[in-house]
Amino acid sequence: MKFGELELSLIRECTFKLDGGAMFGVVPKPLWDRLSPADELNRVLLACNLLLIEGPHGRVLVETGMGERWGHKERDRFEIKTLVSSEQVVKEAGLSNDDVDFVVISHLHFDHAGGATRYEGTALIPTFPKAKYLVQKGEWEFAHKANARAQASYRATDFDPLQEHGVLEIVDGDREIVPGIWVHVTGGHTRYHQIVTFESTGRKGIFFADIIPTRTHLPPPWVMGYDHFPLTSCDAKDKWLTLAVQEKYLVVFDHEPGIPWGYVEQKQDGKFNFLPLENEPLAARSVVAGTL
Ligand SMILES: [Zn+2]
Repeated sequence: MKFGELELSLIRECTFKLDGGAMFGVVPKPLWDRLSPADELNRVLLACNLLLIEGPHGRVLVETGMGERWGHKERDRFEIKTLVSSEQVVKEAGLSNDDVDFVVISHLHFDHAGGATRYEGTALIPTFPKAKYLVQKGEWEFAHKANARAQASYRATDFDPLQEHGVLEIVDGDREIVPGIWVHVTGGHTRYHQIVTFESTGRKGIFFADIIPTRTHLPPPWVMGYDHFPLTSCDAKDKWLTLAVQEKYLVVFDHEPGIPWGYVEQKQDGKFNFLPLENEPLAARSVVAGTL
């Protein structure tokens, strides 16, 4: 999709499922189940939606998805369905992995960093060998010392090879990556979780990452049980959604299994409402039957 001088592509890398209770935290099931129906194991359907931003200053890929390095046990537990191989993840946008200049990873959980590396034979190599991978300093440090509750979401094989191959770029705080494309630390989901904003010729957009994973998570108090700092998530959502309404941001949700991008309006009662982009296709192969 043309967006000012930028070209935006959404790549649905996989679908998977997580426990609905964990996804919606303190929200009672009868409320979320109407909007994100649970399966017989109480899991809700999710996707990994990667955003490719191509512009005059380079190509930025936001997130890497689950990747393919999963055994039968995990594929079964999370019902992971890989929709595009790591080797060809940007092919539908007419690119090869060598063409990506920057990779932004919002945080290092396996559903965001899993596709950062891939196997070549028995060696683990960066999926995007010529890119700089941007990771927050605090997130990098935490991923290497996470405690018993947090560590199940991190796999060192997703990110340690980035450092070994010299493609890791540690970022400390908010930063403009290339003119018009920013990362901002929100905290909340993890203490140093970051989101991405982009802007061209007056049009603005935002990739919320795990602050608002799906359209069902739009109400600020509807925060994931996974979040390390749920009250921070609630405040960050309120702040950025208010801005998104005022400045007419294009909003993008990383785990929405339906249409994951659109605009937000605020109704008279103060509630936010999502208006999906009905006619902008995702990359063709990435469309999951029955969810769009
Ligand atoms: Zn996630």
